[in-house]
Amino acid sequence: MITIANEPSFRESVDLMVDRAMTVMNLDGGAAAAIKSCDSLLQVQFPVKIRGKIEVFTGWRATHSSHRLPSKGGIRYAPYADQDEVEALAALMTYKCAIVDVPFGGSKGALLIDPEQYERDELEMITRRFAHELIRKGFLSPSTNVPAPDVGTGQREMAWIADTYKHLHPEDINYIACVTGKPLHHGGIHGRVEATGRGVQYGLREFFRHPEDVKTANLSGFLQGKTCVIQGLGNVGYHAAKFLSEEDGVIITAVIERDGALINDEGINIEDLYQHINAHGSIINFPGATLEENGAAVLEKECDILIPAALESQITLKNAERIQAKLIIEAANGPITYGADEILNKKGTIIIPDAYANAGGVTVSYFEWIRNISHIRLGRMSKRHDETQGMQMAAMLEELTGSKISENLRKSVARGADELDLVRSGLDDTMRTAYQQIRETLTSNDNINDLRTASYVTSITKIARSYLDIGVY
Ligand code: GLU
Repeated sequence: MITIANEPSFRESVDLMVDRAMTVMNLDGGAAAAIKSCDSLLQVQFPVKIRGKIEVFTGWRATHSSHRLPSKGGIRYAPYADQDEVEALAALMTYKCAIVDVPFGGSKGALLIDPEQYERDELEMITRRFAHELIRKGFLSPSTNVPAPDVGTGQREMAWIADTYKHLHPEDINYIACVTGKPLHHGGIHGRVEATGRGVQYGLREFFRHPEDVKTANLSGFLQGKTCVIQGLGNVGYHAAKFLSEEDGVIITAVIERDGALINDEGINIEDLYQHINAHGSIINFPGATLEENGAAVLEKECDILIPAALESQITLKNAERIQAKLIIEAANGPITYGADEILNKKGTIIIPDAYANAGGVTVSYFEWIRNISHIRLGRMSKRHDETQGMQMAAMLEELTGSKISENLRKSVARGADELDLVRSGLDDTMRTAYQQIRETLTSNDNINDLRTASYVTSITKIARSYLDIGVY
C-alpha cells in the first residue's frame, strides 16, 4: 500500500467515503455493516525455485461481496501490495459493479512482487503457482471468483491462469470463463484491452452532454479544445489520452510518469510518446515536449481536466489545496484520499469518481464472461443477417426515390455489427446510463452535493435492495 502520513489508509479512506453516502441514505446499521464488510480474505505464501534458489511469494485474494456471483476483480503485481490495499480495491469492485449494473460481486487479488525483476518464464511459473493456490482454496472459478488484469498484469498472465485452471478442471465446460482479459486467441473479447480507457472517454462525453453539470465545473461547451493533464501512461491512461486527443479534440498539455512529466501547452502527441516510451523505457528525451523532473508537481498545473490514471493516494492533504484542474476524472482506483476529496469538494472541483469512471474494464470483462459461457463470439449469428437487411433497405430506398445511393453510404448502411462494434456500443450505453442514474441521485437529494456520494448512494441502494429483498443467510 502507498502510505500517506497522517491520513487514513486506503481501505479506511474508501470506508469513510462510503460512510458519508450511507449517512445521507439513513441506511439501517445492520445492512450498512453487511455491505461494508469484506466477506473473506485469503493470504497465501508459496515457494518457487528461481535461478536455483527458493523464493517465497506472498499473495492475497479478497472477496468483498458475493451477493451476486461470480465475484469479480483484477489481480495486481506490485512491490507495495498488501492486505489493506487488496481489501480497499475489492470493496471498490463491489460498488463499481453495482453502479454499472454488472451482476457480479466484488473481489481483488494481489501478489507482492516487482515483475520487472523477473524473466518471462519465471513470471509464468510464479503466476501458475499463484493461480493453483487460488483455485485449490476456492478463490478462482468461472462461477464463483473471476480475476482480470490490473496494475502489473495483462493478457499474458490471464492466459497462464486460464490454462492452469483448465488442467485442474478439464471437466468444467466453462473453464475459459475462469478469468477475463485473456488474449483474443485464448477466449478473449475484442475491445477488452482498450476498455477502461474507452470507458473514461465515454464517461467524459456523457458528462459534457449535460450543460448544467459542465457549468458546475466552471466549464462550458464540449470536450473539443479542453486542456488535460494525465498522470500515468499505462494501459488505462494511454487509451484514455489517445482516444480523447485523437477523437474528441482534447489537448493533452502534460503527461506525468514515474521519471518526471512532459509539458507542451500546444498538445502532446500520445501515440508518438507511447512509441518513445516503448522504445526507450522512459519519457526522457521525447522531442515533442519539455521535461519537468518533479512529476508530482505537475498534478497542480492549470488545466480543464485532470486524469489521474496511475495509482492510489496521489492527491492528498498535502497537494489538494493547490490542484487547479476544474474537473478530475479518476481513471485509477483511489487516486484521491478522503481528506483531499473533502478539500476539493469545498473548493468546488468536480470529481467524476473511480467507481464509475474506471468501470469500463469490468463492464467489458462481463461481456467477455458472457461470450465464454455462451461459447459464441458476439455478433456471429446476426452480422450477415443485418447486412442483408441493410442491402434490402438501400435497394428499397433506391426504388422509392428513383435515385442511386452512393457506394460508401450503401456500405455503411449495410454493415452488420461485428464484435468490437457491439462491445463499444454496450460499453457506451453502460457508461451513459450509469452517469444518468448518478446525476438523477445527485439532483433529487438536497443532502448530496458531489458525484462521488451520488455514485455510492446509487450503488448502495442497488446492493441494499438485494440484501433486504433476499435477507441474510
Ligand atoms: N482491474 C480492473 C478494475 O479495477 C478490471 C476488473 C475486471 O475486469 O474484473 O476494475
